[in-house]
This record gives sequence, C-alpha cells and structure tokens, in this order.
Amino acid sequence: MYKEAVRAAWTEINLSNADYNIKQIKQKIGDKTKVIGVIKADAYGHGAVKIAEVLRENDIKTFAVATLQECIVLREAGAMEEIIVMGLTPELYAEEIVKYNVTPVVASYDNAKAISEAAEHQGIEIRGLIAADTGMGRIGYMTDSDENIDKAVEEVKKIAELTNFEIMGLISHFSMSEAEDAEYVKLQEERYFRFRDRLLAEGIKLPLETFANSPAVMENSSVYLDAARPGIVLYGYYPSTEIDKSLLDIKPVMSVKANIVYLKEVPEGYSCSYGRKFIAERKSVIGTLSIGYADGLPRPYSPYGKVIVNGHIAPIAGNICMDQCMIDLTDVPGVKVGDEVIIMGSDGKNTISADDIAQAVGTINYEILCGFGQRLPKVYVR
Ligand SMILES: *Cc1c(COP(=O)(O)O)cnc(C)c1O
Repeated sequence: MYKEAVRAAWTEINLSNADYNIKQIKQKIGDKTKVIGVIKADAYGHGAVKIAEVLRENDIKTFAVATLQECIVLREAGAMEEIIVMGLTPELYAEEIVKYNVTPVVASYDNAKAISEAAEHQGIEIRGLIAADTGMGRIGYMTDSDENIDKAVEEVKKIAELTNFEIMGLISHFSMSEAEDAEYVKLQEERYFRFRDRLLAEGIKLPLETFANSPAVMENSSVYLDAARPGIVLYGYYPSTEIDKSLLDIKPVMSVKANIVYLKEVPEGYSCSYGRKFIAERKSVIGTLSIGYADGLPRPYSPYGKVIVNGHIAPIAGNICMDQCMIDLTDVPGVKVGDEVIIMGSDGKNTISADDIAQAVGTINYEILCGFGQRLPKVYVR
C-alpha cells in the first residue's frame, strides 16, 4: 500500500522499463533518424509529464501529443521541447497555438493562414507540419491520384508563402502493420514518396519528414526518414498480435495493483455483485478490491477476469462494479486483508498482460492502457 496514492488501488509505472524501451528503439532505428516521443492521451495512461522526463534523459527533443490541451499540460509542467500536436487544431484556437508555441499539423490553407495571422499578431513565427493522407483516411491532403496530388501541391505552395507560418515538414500515418497487410503498407509508402517528391520538385523544403509509427519502427526501415513516431512500444507493448516480437525487445511499463480491502466467507448459494452472475458453488472466501470499471477495468472482463494473489491466480467474482470488484480467493491459502493483488502485471511466475485483458474483451492493448490511466493514482518506480 502506498500512503501517497491515497487509495488501495494504483498503477505502478516502471520508469526503468520506459528507459529500457527508449534505448531499444533508438538502437533499432539508428543515429540518422531521431525519435519523436508520442505521449498523447497522457502517455497512453502512463503520465505524460513523467514519461517526458525519461524521454528528456534520453536526449529526445521532440514530443508529440494529440491535442492542444495536452500540449498546454506539458508546457505548464515546464516542457521547453518542440511539441507536435498531431490532430488538427481548429482556427478558433490559433492564438493558443502561438501562445503555447505548438508545432501544429495542418491540412488546409485556411487553417495555416489563421495560425500565421495569430503568429504575426504575437510577433513570432510558427513552424508546422503538412499532413498527407496516404491511406489512413483520417486527416491530411489526399494523395491517391494525380489530380488530388496536383490540388494538394497548389495549396501547399500557397501555405509556403504565408509570412509567419513556416513549413517544417511532412507527416503521414499508417493504418496497418506489414505483418497485417504488406501490400497496403507499400501503397501508402508509394503515395507518400510521390507526394513528397512533387513538393520537393516545386521547391518546398521539408526538413522534417516523419511517417513511422511503432509497427514501421519494428518492420520498415524504408520509412524511418528524419524522425520516427513510436507510441505503444515506448510503453512496452507491441502494436499488433501479428507482428514479429523478436524485432524489438521491450518491457511493459504499467502494472495495476490493489490491496484486499475486505475479506469474508460466504455460504454455498450466496451471490456477489450486480446481476448475481457469481453464485458460490461451495463455501467461498471473497475479497473486495477498490477498483472498478471507472478505473479502466472493463466491465465485459467480469466473466473472464483473473488476478494474481500470493503466487496464485484467482478469478473475479461476478460483475465488476464502477469502483470496486470482488475476487474468489477460496483456493488461495492464507489470504488476509491488505494483501497485494496484481490485476495487470507479473509476479515473476504468473503474468496478466494488457493483451490478455484486451483479448478477453475484444479490444486492443492501447485501449486497456489508456483506460487504466484515467482515475487510478500513479506510483512511479525505478
Ligand atoms: C498514435 C500515433 C502515433 C503512434 O502510434 P503507435 O502505434 O502507438 O506507435 C504516431 N503518429 C500518429 C499520427 C498517431 O496518431
């Protein structure tokens, strides 16, 4: 139990493992490509300010987040690095982009123009990235046909003439790993290079080209370019179940733990939790934990859920509540109130990973990590 957590449930964030992962990634991509540390969604639930510190210790000088608000949180914590906001930021917030010295991603002339004008008012210049949609279908100039590339090139040329907006480079994003669909990855790559080459031919300078996410960092050195943007691998998880894990050695950074706060014996036939999904088939020992679905423990995990207690695996008993859940400790010898329970993580012998939880509930490890980041206190360890 951690006094400072003020709660008998917490995420344990192992910063040594984050440091290890960063070093592995840097070694994998080599010196010619820099790393942009993707710390959106509060660093996938791990705490962006703290993960930024570990990135900083490893000489990483550019961070990427999803929203302006996430950039402001980092600035207010004292971050002086270049911070790319990878989502689009509406013109309404152009003044804030300038005030917080954001590196925006733009996909229209009007957006870039509003930013340039706001920068002019405040007497500075903003550097931003042009987004190319090469097949993700999310944001960016369409690059799927010659007509669309022509249109995009004309607009980017206009952006290049803005007085207080400087084109810093080009960004695009993959929708698949090579292991999932190598052909589609190739197609995205071809579109990227066709568009990039046209821009260069028109005299547009692109000092920072960035395309590679975690799967590309692992599988595809042809798109390392100037900077790679690994996210999930920083946190010690693989971007898909299909990818060849031997390509990168990483260690999970987040564990989720709780202490047993209440313990009781119930008779055969007694039920636990909403909906009475657990009915004791024998006299049972039931423990209660202060963690529920509002903490990121998904309610659909209830029938499959397991925890690690004193070297044993124990099932979740009945539906996970909003803030609490029950576990069946009948087969765990010698449990007492206060014993530590691992909801996600490893005791050296047994492991429950974000992938296990994700698979049980039909989602991806990314969502499980983000979920646990929402409300639980974070305890940082080295
Ligand atoms: C989230 C994100 C990344 C990082 O993706 P991972 O799969 O976690 O490596 C990179 N670029 C963009 C634009 C993103 O949205």
